[in-house]
Amino acid sequence: MEEPPSAPPEGDFAFRGEPGQGKWPEMVYGGALSFLRRRYSRDLDGVDVAVSGIPFDSATSNRPGARLGPRAIRAASTMMAELNAFPWGFDPFAHLEVVDYGDCQFDFGYQHRAVEVIEEHARQILATDTAMATFGGDHFVTYPLLRAHAAVHGPMALVHFDAHSDTWPDDGDRLDHGSMFLRAAREGLIDPARSVQIGIRSANELDHGFTILDAPWVHDNGAAAVVAEIGQVVGEGPVYLTFDIDCLDPAFAPGTGTPVVGGLSTAQALNILRGLGDLSLVGFDVTEVAPAYDHAEITALAAATVAHDLLCLLADRQRRSR
Ligand code: MN
Ligand code: MN
Repeated sequence: MEEPPSAPPEGDFAFRGEPGQGKWPEMVYGGALSFLRRRYSRDLDGVDVAVSGIPFDSATSNRPGARLGPRAIRAASTMMAELNAFPWGFDPFAHLEVVDYGDCQFDFGYQHRAVEVIEEHARQILATDTAMATFGGDHFVTYPLLRAHAAVHGPMALVHFDAHSDTWPDDGDRLDHGSMFLRAAREGLIDPARSVQIGIRSANELDHGFTILDAPWVHDNGAAAVVAEIGQVVGEGPVYLTFDIDCLDPAFAPGTGTPVVGGLSTAQALNILRGLGDLSLVGFDVTEVAPAYDHAEITALAAATVAHDLLCLLADRQRRSR
């Protein structure tokens, strides 16, 4: 019989964790929250990826509440913080130094400053040569994130999971979670010719040059075909991946502001993401988790798993390059 450990391991790795520390057991139902129990730090020396939250939802067209997303995703991530990653079979944090940077701080009374505040938050992180893994917030937060990333990487390919194209036109000034990717394309932050939208199931007469693999196409053709198509369109340059949780069917992600039926299952989405290891991913976000409409943390757990798998993708790339 195996001996029990002589002393219980210390908890609260959100602030007791050490640089270089891999996954570590901590009770999943308590303790200080951080994403995947990574240590909280604003010192990014030697850090590969900084996780942060953008608790902003003033650009939503329907139900608000995504400002509470980062907190819910951190809570849902605790179950994945202990064991090796499945099906990867390794500890991503043995290969990738990840910290939880905390949230972008807002004054709720100055919502119109959101672009400036979020962009500055991102610029400070990217200036230290650290990649970002970001939790919304509504999907508008991706626009200032793209501005900051494009300032470093130049025009990027966008790999965009969503029920909505988010390319409806605007006047360049609106806070609107349905128009920012057309704006980003017009500003040269992303290159539509190298960008793919996956899971779309809402009408938009114009594709604005983006490749669209809509939800029926994904259901008819399967994950492997989606991966192949993404690889073909995106090619070799820098890629930013944005995952609006409403890409998933409301059965798999009820906790979101603008759900649309007929979407991807969590399994389909994970199968696609796990096939994207050859992309030059420079950053990613997961947005639109609104916990007030969630049931049994289904949506927050899906978002945490998507982000965990994307970190595994980056860790695997490091692992293979060594
Ligand atoms: Mn969206
Ligand atoms: Mn959407």
